[in-house]
Amino acid sequence: MASPRVMTVDILTLFPGYFSSPMGEGILGRGVEDGRVRIRIFNLRDFAEDRHRTVDDRPFGGGAGMVLKPEPVCRALTWLKGLPGPSPRVILLTPQGAPLKQSRVKELALCHRIILICGRYEGIDERIADFFCDEQISIGDYVLSGGEPAALVFLDALIRLIPEVMGCADSGKEESFEEGLLEYPQYTRPRNFKGHGVPEILFSGDHEKIRVWRRRQALSKTIKRRPDLIEEERLSPENRKILMKLPKKD
Ligand code: SAM
Repeated sequence: MASPRVMTVDILTLFPGYFSSPMGEGILGRGVEDGRVRIRIFNLRDFAEDRHRTVDDRPFGGGAGMVLKPEPVCRALTWLKGLPGPSPRVILLTPQGAPLKQSRVKELALCHRIILICGRYEGIDERIADFFCDEQISIGDYVLSGGEPAALVFLDALIRLIPEVMGCADSGKEESFEEGLLEYPQYTRPRNFKGHGVPEILFSGDHEKIRVWRRRQALSKTIKRRPDLIEEERLSPENRKILMKLPKKD
């Protein structure tokens, strides 16, 4: 039997300790423990050349803060690319990158090896983004103090797409962003919580009715909260039919 695919993620950071606890917990921890994912953390300072291990400098043209110098990042990338194994996809985490979408996470989950570069301070010299990275990713329209939390967000989204890590192979199929929709509402015991009940249909035992009800809920929730996600041409014929029957204003 062929051995299962192992994804390698190399993280370049100034704060290696940031990752120690999350890597031992939850889905990240499980992926690492199962051997499905190999995460290697590299300290950017180890690639500095001077005895002070300098990685930053003042911005040309003036302005506040410090900028990460290109040489240590570039030296680290050259060294990492020279390690044995599949050739890596180099991703720079930056608020100026393409907003991360589930569809892109799915594509990247097929990679065998990824290098994540975490910036700090005012960010990294622009020449790294321009000439030494394959793509730039943002986890949202806000500015973090460093790329480390963004790397963890990205890793979590990525690793849970590996079926063996997820635990239940079906649990990802109907989640938010599948088919461009938010997920339907979920309920569990107790049936009555502080006077608030649960939609009766969920106790009907009629799986088909429940499935259609969930579709309808997913569509109406998406229209209310994230109309930007709905691209009518991408909707399945069934979803389009349900959408047409939804009241215009709920
Ligand atoms: N001066 C930069 C700008 O205005 O675009 C922001 C630098 S930020 C303070 C420092 C680092 O945090 C960035 O280099 C990047 O690695 C990371 N970072 C901040 N916000 C991020 C986001 N929304 N997505 C991904 N990485 C982010």
